[in-house]
Amino acid sequence: MRPLADAQREILAAMEQLPAISVPLGECLGLALADDVVASHAVPPFENSAMDGFAVRAADVASAPVTLAVLEDLPAGSVARSVITSGTTIKIMTGAPMPDGADAVVIVEDSESHEDDVVTLLEPALPGDHVRRAGGDIEEGAMVLPAGARLNPMHLGLLASVGVGSPVVVKRPTVAVFSTGDELAPIDAPALRPGTIHDSNRPMLIGALTELGVDVLDLGIVPDDVRLLRSVLGEAASNADAVVTSGGVSMGEYDLVKEALTEVGQVEFWKVAMQPAKPFAFGFLGCTPLFGLPGNPVSVMVAFEQFVRPALLRRMGATRLFRRRTTAVLSTPITSSPEKTVFVRVRAEPGSSGVKVIPFGRQGSNILSALAAADAFAVVPPGVGDVAAGATVEVEWFRSPEARTRQEVLGG
Ligand code: AMP
Ligand code: MG
Repeated sequence: MRPLADAQREILAAMEQLPAISVPLGECLGLALADDVVASHAVPPFENSAMDGFAVRAADVASAPVTLAVLEDLPAGSVARSVITSGTTIKIMTGAPMPDGADAVVIVEDSESHEDDVVTLLEPALPGDHVRRAGGDIEEGAMVLPAGARLNPMHLGLLASVGVGSPVVVKRPTVAVFSTGDELAPIDAPALRPGTIHDSNRPMLIGALTELGVDVLDLGIVPDDVRLLRSVLGEAASNADAVVTSGGVSMGEYDLVKEALTEVGQVEFWKVAMQPAKPFAFGFLGCTPLFGLPGNPVSVMVAFEQFVRPALLRRMGATRLFRRRTTAVLSTPITSSPEKTVFVRVRAEPGSSGVKVIPFGRQGSNILSALAAADAFAVVPPGVGDVAAGATVEVEWFRSPEARTRQEVLGG
C-alpha cells in the first residue's frame, strides 16, 4: 500500500501539461494562463475624473466660493476641445479625461449653477482631488497575472482592462467519466428494480469536473463485464485527455476495472494507505491517465479531491493544485487508524478562540448525506491514531460554512 503523499507525488509527476492555445476571453473561465501577462498599456490609460463635477485649477478655487466660466460639458468617452486657464472650468463626468490645464475636480454637490455657462464652486480643492492618475490601477509594463493563474471572473475583467482579448491559456481538457456496476440504475430509469440503486457517483463527478472547468464526456453506466469495460475504456481514451471511473477496483469477484485496464493499458498502482478510498487505481490507457475511483460515494469524493482534482489542475497548467488547509480545534474525539491518512467529515462550529470542527454524521464511506452536509475533511496523518477532543487537527475545506443552508438535511 502506498502512502498517500507518495501516490500524489507519483500521479502529479506523471501529468503532462496540455498544449497552450489562444482562447477568446469569454471562453477562458477556469483555464490557466500559459504565459505571464504584462500590461502593454497603463490602466487607466489616461488621467481622468473620479467624480461628476468641475475640472479646475486648484489655485483658482483656493478662496471658494468662486464663480468660474464653464467652457464646455465633457462626458466620458470624449476629449476636451478647450484648455483650462485661470477663471475657467469644464463640467466633467466620471471617467472623462482631465482637460489640459486642470489639476483638480470640485464635485457637483459643491456647486451652484443658475446659468449654463457660469458656475459657483463652494469648496476649495487641492491639486489631485478627485483625479485618477494614468496607471493608478496598473502601470504600463507591470505584471498583471503570472503563468499558472486560473482565470476567475475578476481575472477576465483584469485582462480585458489591459486589452488582452484572447490570452494564451492551457487547453481545456475533456474528461471521460463512467460508472461501473450491475446494480446501478440511471437516474431516469422508471423505477428501481429489486437489488438496484441509483447511480449517484456519476452526477457527483460530473458536477465536480464541471466546477473544475473541464469538458465532460459522459459515458454512462457500464456493467460488470470485462469485454464491455475494455471497449468503453478504449473509447474513453481515444476521445478524452483523462478518464475517471467509479466502482470495480476493490477485491471482489466483479471488480473488473483493474482487470480490463491491465489488458488495454497499464496499472501503475492501486491501493493507497488512506481511509476512505483505499482501493484506488491509477494507470494509463496509452498516454491518457486513468483514475479508477472506488464505488462508495464518499470514497469517490475523497479520491477525487486528493488525486483527480490536483492531477487535472496540473494538466491544465495551474500552479495552485490543492485546496486550502487550516488548523482547527476538534470538539469531539476521532478514532483513526495509525497506518493510514484518515479523512473525517467535519463541520465548522464558531469557537470561542479560533475555529472548532466537529466530526459530523456517520463516517461510513457510503454515507453520502453526512458528506453533503459537511464543510471540510479533518485530515489525520499516518502515525497519529486516535485524536482527543480539544486537540488541533489539520482541516481541508471544500466549502465555506456560510454556504450551508439552514434546512439542509442532516445525515447519520
Ligand atoms: P465496488 O467498489 O464496485 O464494489 O462498489 C462499492 C460500493 O459502492 C457498492 O456498495 C456499490 O453498490 C456502490 N457503488 C458503486 N458505484 C456506485 C455509484 N455509481 N453510485 C452509488 N453507489 C455506487
Ligand atoms: Mg462494483
